[in-house]
Amino acid sequence: MRIKLDNRTPFLTADIRAIVRAAAKAVGANGDKTIDVVNARGWHVTGWAYYGHRKREARRIRLRLPKSAGDKVAEVGAVVAHELMHTLGVRHADMTSDQRRCTAAFGAFAAELPLRRSEAVAAPEAPEDKETAAERGARLVAKRAAHARAMLKRAATRSKRARTIERIEAALAAAARLGGQNPVDFSPRGWQMEEGDQELGS
Ligand SMILES: [Zn+2]
Repeated sequence: MRIKLDNRTPFLTADIRAIVRAAAKAVGANGDKTIDVVNARGWHVTGWAYYGHRKREARRIRLRLPKSAGDKVAEVGAVVAHELMHTLGVRHADMTSDQRRCTAAFGAFAAELPLRRSEAVAAPEAPEDKETAAERGARLVAKRAAHARAMLKRAATRSKRARTIERIEAALAAAARLGGQNPVDFSPRGWQMEEGDQELGS
């Protein structure tokens, strides 16, 4: 039995495959299967399958997994087994109540199997991808200090800008005192761009 999975959910393909294998064993399905696995819109595990025959099993199944699927693997197993039964030609009228309703009791064979989200086993995000509030504060203060320094350099070329220089130096001192703790409050009053100054890009 070959199982071709087209998995478009966050759940691990290997985990889904193991559940399908267990379900196939439970209902005696042996034929190759092509299974589309997609996200369910609601909260229920659902699916559909083509009808086949015992001697000529249908191949195609669609399985829809809700976000909570990892917490109800027995139900996922029950739905997979139910759909596999359809590929064997079994109709609802021929099923037991548990098989028809895909109860956890019917899917008990899968109850202990994992159904993990791929992000749950992926390597943690690189630290530089996550900027903490403190890091963001430090970055904003550094950016504003760089802007102030650039303005200072320009202002220094003309003595008539002496007052501006004083303000900017006060702003720089304020930035140093803040040390990245509270950049939101870093706004030197009365500090205005002079004509010809340019806002630095971020
Ligand atoms: Zn059905």
